[in-house]
Amino acid sequence: SIPLGFFGGIGLASKNGILVKGGNYLEALNKLDTIVFDKTGTLTEGNFKVTEVNICSDYSREEILEIAAEVEQFSNHPIALSIIEAAKNYKKHSAANNYQEISGAGIKAELDNNLILAGNERLMQKNNIEYEKTDSTGTAVYLAKNGEFLASIIISDQLKDDAKAAVSELKELGINNLAMLTGDNQLTAAKVASSLKLDNFYAELLPDQKVEKVEELLHSSNKLAFVGDGINDAPVLARSDLGIAMGGLGSDAAIEAADVVLMTDEPSKIVSALNIAAKTKELVW
Ligand code: ADP
Ligand code: MG
Repeated sequence: SIPLGFFGGIGLASKNGILVKGGNYLEALNKLDTIVFDKTGTLTEGNFKVTEVNICSDYSREEILEIAAEVEQFSNHPIALSIIEAAKNYKKHSAANNYQEISGAGIKAELDNNLILAGNERLMQKNNIEYEKTDSTGTAVYLAKNGEFLASIIISDQLKDDAKAAVSELKELGINNLAMLTGDNQLTAAKVASSLKLDNFYAELLPDQKVEKVEELLHSSNKLAFVGDGINDAPVLARSDLGIAMGGLGSDAAIEAADVVLMTDEPSKIVSALNIAAKTKELVW
């Protein structure tokens, strides 16, 4: 009977570290033709390392990293964690004043009455900073103090070990649009997309624009899944036909908004989920 088959499928999935919140989601998995991935923490480790500091002021490398760390200490974005780790001896300010984390852009805060900005080009442009665009690959965090550009800090992430294999297996399973969304810059996104052989990618998106992009892709697909790890991903997970959360590092909001939760953050678990869903279909009919 139908319920037995679905329960069997859900049980089998859970034994494989895949939490499926209902039998209808197994059915949706069987009909997928589009999978949209978030980049950071989903296809990449989300484990950034500072690889370069380009200084355009009188500060030393260590001082630049300290200023950045002092405003990043209240953020739990992977970018912030990497900067704090690179700044060996920054002073913890119990209160950086008027701290603001601007999603998809960076940090704005006051340190000792100085206005500090740490974030991407969008943040610099919005605040009319004359910054020096870097051509290094990686994610650039531009740093400014009282309207004056100080430095760019380059940080790099790594692809997850199984990401490439997962993408190619999903292609073989008939997913004809494998796409990526990211708030990160065009160059870094292009590099990730081409090394994984993704069909499409969309970069420099604000959280709202991620939702809009998914809405657009919903029109041109039969069934669409979005895979994300959390920070800002909940609205996109909720909007997709099937929301898949990376549960290991994922935020509570993402886990709650998702229809399927992967207990370990491996893209290859999606291949397993599709295989289990296909097996369940055999059991049901
Ligand atoms: P993704 O889509 O890759 O998950 P986010 O939407 O979280 O990325 O962030 C998009 C971009 O916004 C980052 O690549 C970075 O340039 C900037 N950004 C976000 N948070 C921070 C932060 N705490 N410090 C500096 N830059 C940040
Ligand atoms: Mg993210």
